[in-house]
Amino acid sequence: MSGQGPSYPRYAVSNGPEYGYKNLAVFYNACSFNCLYCQNYHFKEHTFSSRAFSAKELASRVDEKTACICYFGGDPTPQIFHAIKASKLALKQASGRILRIC
Ligand code: SF4
Repeated sequence: MSGQGPSYPRYAVSNGPEYGYKNLAVFYNACSFNCLYCQNYHFKEHTFSSRAFSAKELASRVDEKTACICYFGGDPTPQIFHAIKASKLALKQASGRILRIC
């Protein structure tokens, strides 16, 4: 559930909480920074042990109740081409309905 309606009604399913909808959170296990007090340093130990998803496979996880895809990393920049490709595929299959890319 999220609530984008009051701020961005153009990108919201409803004017209040989007009950019944979900967010597809994509955590890339990657980051281009090296902050001294990183709260996600664990990902660096698992970067190559995670299961890999193709962009097509990731886009296929979007269904009619997915209102948003949110990319995290720590920092998703190292996987930007994968994120863009998956997002374009997901938007194409969403064919005009609300699907936010964050
Ligand atoms: S995950 Fe966040 S806190 Fe950690 S190094 Fe990357 S940007 Fe910094």
